[in-house]
Amino acid sequence: MEKKQFQAESKRLLEMMINSIYTQREIFLRELISNASDAIDKIYYLALTDDKLVFDKDSYYIKVVADKANRTLTIRDTGIGMSKEELENNLGIIAKSGSLAFKKENESKDGHDIIGQFGVGFYSAFMVADVVTVTSKALRGDSAYKWESTGADGYTIEPCEKDSVGTEIVLKIKENTEDDNYDEFLEEYRLKAIIKKYSDFIRYPIKMDVVGKRLKEGSDDEFEDYEEEQRVNSMVPIWRKNKSELTADDYDNFYAEKHYGFDKPLKHIHISADGTVVYQAILYIPESIPFDYYSKEFEKGLELYANGVLIMNKCADLLPDYFSFVKGMVDSESLSLNISREMLQHDRQLKLIAKNIASKIKSQLQSLLKDEREKYEQFYKSFGRQLKFGVYSDYGAHKDLLQDLLMFYSSKEKKLVTLDEYVSRMPEDQKYIYYASGESNERIEKLPQTELVSDKGYEILYFTDDIDEFAIKMVMSYKDKEFKSVSSGDLGIEASDDKENAESDNTDNKELFDHMKSLLSGKVSNVKASKRLKSHPVCLSTEGEVTIEMEKILKAMPN
Ligand code: ADP
Ligand code: MG
Repeated sequence: MEKKQFQAESKRLLEMMINSIYTQREIFLRELISNASDAIDKIYYLALTDDKLVFDKDSYYIKVVADKANRTLTIRDTGIGMSKEELENNLGIIAKSGSLAFKKENESKDGHDIIGQFGVGFYSAFMVADVVTVTSKALRGDSAYKWESTGADGYTIEPCEKDSVGTEIVLKIKENTEDDNYDEFLEEYRLKAIIKKYSDFIRYPIKMDVVGKRLKEGSDDEFEDYEEEQRVNSMVPIWRKNKSELTADDYDNFYAEKHYGFDKPLKHIHISADGTVVYQAILYIPESIPFDYYSKEFEKGLELYANGVLIMNKCADLLPDYFSFVKGMVDSESLSLNISREMLQHDRQLKLIAKNIASKIKSQLQSLLKDEREKYEQFYKSFGRQLKFGVYSDYGAHKDLLQDLLMFYSSKEKKLVTLDEYVSRMPEDQKYIYYASGESNERIEKLPQTELVSDKGYEILYFTDDIDEFAIKMVMSYKDKEFKSVSSGDLGIEASDDKENAESDNTDNKELFDHMKSLLSGKVSNVKASKRLKSHPVCLSTEGEVTIEMEKILKAMPN
């Protein structure tokens, strides 16, 4: 029998994980059950496209068995199983990406949510077990294998006997210590409660042998124990339930169970559409940015179910890029089950669903903005940039959809404001929506160019994000008011009486200005007397469409 070491990173993670989690141990069961459910889903999925496979619904289930005498808890499934290679690859290597970064980031925090942040469900078994034994027979394998591990020191793997396809996971439950009670994970009532709490919506039966008492036959005062197999979960998927039956916790639990994110969702959106296209969806707006969100690795998409069966993990076509942060799932009866990825792209139903979803997300964001401003601002700090990219991309094609969701820092309010708020406050004589670009609010505040506009009592929006000005160029105008950079040549502000003065200043000082221009040769195109300065002696301004800040960004971009 060979003994193998976990890969180095896995080992470090595993040690950390086992040692640092003191609360929420119970979620190990959720993890193992959702793996079992995934494994059954995989058979179901294969059967759709393979005539030789029949999926007989009644023979697929998950069984949980507690054995107090031997201190074991067994989770058995009739899913797809794992071959020797799969046991090694899936259980021998913990999710590699970002693992070290994670460790560094989280050293200081307490262990409360670590499990979630990990997203490595299987290993949570070691929170409650000294030894984990996995016996598995793969649907497409010849023999069965037994994988066994005591945690961080590695694992063994050897051939074994197993009649039926599927996986059996046996946990040798830890002994109680002074501080920690592990016995609870062998108690029927406790296990039932954990399953109800986290796995009620699993679509396959989760069975337990339940002991009851009944009157002995022929007696009217003598009782006897009897055992019967019971289904513990309700099996109705959460998205098929009525919103009124569900609590905020149910949605949060589903988010965690599905590993949509390791945070708590900021908002959930439960859709039951039965108009021209029939579908149900549960969507989430996450609270924080996924660590890989602004990287190439990030893949957007929603889980796609056809009539209750998962057919795709990340269906990108369901989400526009500007809403790529949305997580969740869609189930539709209108989709055919064995549709291929290529066909899906052209599916009319799917396009309708996607369109419908985008407008639902928009209206939910709008109501968040209206009713829960603080939450919206939190959302905007994480994902506002993505909305602005959305406005900018495709030649501003989505600006109508998105412009109401934009926010910028306001010189007057000293906080984020919407364009609508800005426009509704504009004095009658103000022609434009003014903005100023710069690295930070503090820097913009000191710009000489802002003085004249501010002195007129006009509000200025501060653009501190690279994308801001580009996005606004696409919006062009909001409620018939055009945008104007405070550094543009014509500010549209009636310069008091000294327009002529400036003109004559220019002619009178022509020699001086020409001299300055030649000193700055190549750096400026003109030197003129300005009407906009108050306390600063000089400022830069632009004449064309592209402002100084935009030029900087364009120059910094790789060609
Ligand atoms: P995740 O479920 O997020 O992929 P886990 O650590 O929970 O991560 O599981 C790792 C992998 O091990 C799974 O992706 C799956 O391939 C495999 N696996 C775990 N449990 C089972 C099971 N009961 N049946 C088949 N495969 C399983
Ligand atoms: Mg899992």
